Amino acid sequence: MLRFTDPRRFGCLLWQPAGAIHALLEHLGPEPLSDDFDGDYLFERSRGRKAPVKAFLMDQAVVVGVGNIYAAESLFRAGIAPGRAAGSVSRERYARLATAVQQILAHAITRGGTTLRDFLSPDGAPGYFEQELFVYGREGEPCRTCGRRIRDGRMGNRATAWCPGCQR
Ligand SMILES: [Zn+2]
Repeated sequence: MLRFTDPRRFGCLLWQPAGAIHALLEHLGPEPLSDDFDGDYLFERSRGRKAPVKAFLMDQAVVVGVGNIYAAESLFRAGIAPGRAAGSVSRERYARLATAVQQILAHAITRGGTTLRDFLSPDGAPGYFEQELFVYGREGEPCRTCGRRIRDGRMGNRATAWCPGCQR
C-alpha cells in the first residue's frame, strides 16, 4: 500500500518510466545535510547574483528543502540581513550560514518539524520548535537577543522577518 499524506497540498505523485528524470527534478541543488552543501558552495554559486540572499537560499536549484521558516531563522543565526544581495555576502558569512542551516534543520528534525506536527499540538499548545523561533512569526515583538523590534516585509513574494540590530 502506498499512502500519500499532503496536508499543505504542495506535493504530487507522477509516474515516470524507469531511468527518466522529471524536468522538475533535473536541476535541483544538493541536500542541505549532505557533504555537497557548505559555505564555499554557497559562496561560489552566489557570485554576481543580485537577488536577496533569502531568495537565493530558498532557490531549489541552489539547495533543496530550505523553506521560509528555516531560511529566516538561519539568516538570523548567521547575522545576515535577508534583503542583502546574495553576491555581496562574504565567504566567511556563507560558512556561518551553511552551518546555521544545518544546525537548525537537524534540530527541527529531532523536534518533529515546525508547521505541521509542532506548530500547534492537538491540545492547542504551541509546538516546541515554534517556541524557539527568533524571527519567523515574531514581527513587531522584541528580538530575543538585542531587544529591537523584529521587522517584516515581503521578499520574493514571501513574508520575511528579521532583526535590524542583529542582521546586517
Ligand atoms: Zn536582535
